[in-house]
Amino acid sequence: MRIAIIGAGLTGLSAAINLREFADVVLFEKSETGGLASSYCREYCIEKFYHHCFRNDFELIKMIKNLKLSSKLVWKVARVAYAVDGNIFPLNTPFEILKYPHMKLTDKLRLAIFTLKSKKRNYREKDDISVEDGIKEELGESLFNSFFYPLLRSKFGENYGEISYAWLLARVAIRSNRKYSGEELGYLRHGFHQMIERMEEGLDIRKGRVKISKNGKFVVNSGEFDNVIFTAPLPELDSRIHVSANLPPIKYQSSVCALIGAEKTVTEDIYWTNVRDRLSFGAIVEHTNFMPFEDYGEHLIYLASYSTPNGNLFSKGDEKLKKLYLNDLEKFGLNAKDINWIKIFKARYSSPIYEKGYIQNIIPYRTDLEGFYVAGMISKPNYPERSMNGSIKSGLEVAEVVKRDSGFD
Ligand SMILES: Cc1cc2nc3c(=O)[nH]c(=O)nc-3n(C[C@H](O)[C@H](O)[C@H](O)COP(=O)(O)OP(=O)(O)OC[C@H]3O[C@@H](n4cnc5c(N)ncnc54)[C@H](O)[C@@H]3O)c2cc1C
Repeated sequence: MRIAIIGAGLTGLSAAINLREFADVVLFEKSETGGLASSYCREYCIEKFYHHCFRNDFELIKMIKNLKLSSKLVWKVARVAYAVDGNIFPLNTPFEILKYPHMKLTDKLRLAIFTLKSKKRNYREKDDISVEDGIKEELGESLFNSFFYPLLRSKFGENYGEISYAWLLARVAIRSNRKYSGEELGYLRHGFHQMIERMEEGLDIRKGRVKISKNGKFVVNSGEFDNVIFTAPLPELDSRIHVSANLPPIKYQSSVCALIGAEKTVTEDIYWTNVRDRLSFGAIVEHTNFMPFEDYGEHLIYLASYSTPNGNLFSKGDEKLKKLYLNDLEKFGLNAKDINWIKIFKARYSSPIYEKGYIQNIIPYRTDLEGFYVAGMISKPNYPERSMNGSIKSGLEVAEVVKRDSGFD
């Protein structure tokens, strides 16, 4: 039995690892193994887009253990802050939150109660309400305007108005495990590239864009296959297969990220700073305020923005983006002379847009086209947020479905 897996991101790699004992598996990858979790390497390797993990990322933690990398997995409280008018306000301990001057005390209390209650709520019933309407109705206009709106704009760019309230409720619930000093996050010391390198060991990975057709069997780049597992973003799928598989249209957002090596820190001891001001980036993620500076020998800073696949920001050239980012970064006291290098990384399809009604339309692994399966960012384990854990889980789960359908169970 021959199985073609399209895309060698974490979903495709996990599916291949699960299936290789049972079938002849070929992975097809358009650009880089590891996909959105791939790294940029110089004297060290660092993810192109900031990455960390959570205590309840069970599939990811298990994969790390199976690959004998557990000793590298470290957990630390990652400090967060809000930047307003170029000033950074830490928001970790109750004391810091009380001191924050840009929110009324009544709003702080309301927000605390909302977060505490989030775990017990049935978020699914709020899937048809927009996040803006939901927040305004439940928490009031001023909390929406002063706190949530800048966060939503930073996370979803121009698409924030389409997001469902269920998404927010589910997100708050999974992120409400906090210590007194803040939320603990995990990282694979020296980079997740180590996990990806071990995952790809021994797999048959062929580079290049794929063309899929069906002629009795599936034909992928002139090779014949019994089954196909498609793990790349759905807009990458040939339209004829898309129609035969009866897949719904899914909207995606894109990511634009600057990664900077610098001589100076921007955010002191803060890992994640949401930016309330309207700048070219919505968050500053300072990796070396999370992992030791000595691992890199310079400060590593991400500037994160989201856009649409054909949006204004995504369409700008790298040099224009660098200028824009550096100009805005000066507001935080980092100038061109402090910067060793800057790279721009873009992902056209970086996440589905969790719009109203999304939960009802989550796509199952089996499609209407027999032998053709889809998995990845659009699968159930990646709701309410796509993640390394969700992609590994969806890769392992789709492999189980293929095995069952092929009588390997
Ligand atoms: C800015 C950003 C920050 C993130 N931060 C975190 C984080 O902190 N923690 C976390 O857990 N997750 C994070 N993620 C999410 C995580 O990286 C993804 O959920 C996960 O890596 C997705 O894996 P995947 O295999 O499902 O998809 P992808 O990584 O998209 O893999 C799909 C693969 O298919 C390939 N492909 C596309 N088209 C074709 C084609 N036509 N033919 C062949 N191959 C094709 C692509 O090149 C890619 O390698 C982040 C993502 C982004 C964008």
